[in-house]
Amino acid sequence: MLSKALFTCYNPVVERLYWTNPDVYETEVEVKSIGDFRVTIDPIIFHPDEGGQPPDKGTIDKADVLNVETVEGRIVHTLDKPLENGRYIARVDKKHRLHTASQHTAQHIISGIAQTQFALKTVGVHIGFERSTVDFDKKVDWETAGTIEQGTMEVVTENIPVETVFNDTDVRSRFDLAEVDSDIIRVVKIGRYDASACCGTHVRRTGDIGIVRIPDLESKKEGTRISFIAGRKALEFSQAETSTLRELRKMSKCSTPELPVILRKALDQSKNLNKEVDRLQGLILPSLAGSAKVIEIGSSKVGIQVNAVSSKYAAKLAAMIANEIDGTGIVAGDGNIVINSRNLNANDLLKKLQKAVGGKGGGSSKTASGKLDKTVTTEQVIRIIQEQ
Ligand SMILES: [Zn+2]
Repeated sequence: MLSKALFTCYNPVVERLYWTNPDVYETEVEVKSIGDFRVTIDPIIFHPDEGGQPPDKGTIDKADVLNVETVEGRIVHTLDKPLENGRYIARVDKKHRLHTASQHTAQHIISGIAQTQFALKTVGVHIGFERSTVDFDKKVDWETAGTIEQGTMEVVTENIPVETVFNDTDVRSRFDLAEVDSDIIRVVKIGRYDASACCGTHVRRTGDIGIVRIPDLESKKEGTRISFIAGRKALEFSQAETSTLRELRKMSKCSTPELPVILRKALDQSKNLNKEVDRLQGLILPSLAGSAKVIEIGSSKVGIQVNAVSSKYAAKLAAMIANEIDGTGIVAGDGNIVINSRNLNANDLLKKLQKAVGGKGGGSSKTASGKLDKTVTTEQVIRIIQEQ
């Protein structure tokens, strides 16, 4: 019977072994070469790159499977070496499969809970090796994300089976991607939490996922992208965060809940101190202009101050030096440089310094500014600008 369904994968008519036998990682397959190290196999045990889930890895005989994709209604495997037609043993990389299957099954639960409890529609999915994402059509706040995370973990601890049924009429399709005519509709059911048309690979029972964490939310136009991690990667992520928190507690000599207050206080303090430094630097500018190291190039005076002020005051100080000696002021520090000149070409001087130590920037004959790739001393600046 031909059924109509909104389908998430591009090739729903090709039935795959892992739909009904997700535990089969090794079996004999009939290989047909289609040239360029590419083959089709029967039965299909490698998941292709589709539905936001990455392709399986593995081997067919002695050839590594580099990529699996759907091409014009067929599932095509790209190998690292040619393979003649015949029967061979195919092996799926179990660790890689269990990882992507865990992330993908977690995504079913997250999407199912988000839909039933918060009317959030899933509009996009990406399963990655380090981190995966689900895109929702509406804004999601942290409280909602926390509830979804807890709900997902409850489904994991219930350890309920992830079932595959075919041609179920009572199915909710996840995406409104494209309408597909198909005589096979594969529906994945997770208890009362989710039932959706899907081509992907899944774990046998929700308990196999282990842990699910939602570490990030990102606003996307009208909706929200939720980042999630499942399984061993989620544990590794939580361990890394715990380690960072431990380090911060040690540095701040406080408990974890006290950290935001302590950090806020330290940032405010630092901001106020910077303001004070700025104010004091402003006060000592005339004295710095007067104490600049002055040399002569021909009959032109050049005054130099290095590492004396923040970049905020560099232009002002360079102009003050130029005014004080009726010549050229050069102010460098923190990788920045400003030149203000009444007698020499400021841009030429800057280019000369940049040629010697590297950097970017430019200007006119009167003022020039930019970055230097290396920190310079007063003596180095003198030597460079005195060179013919
Ligand atoms: Zn699925």
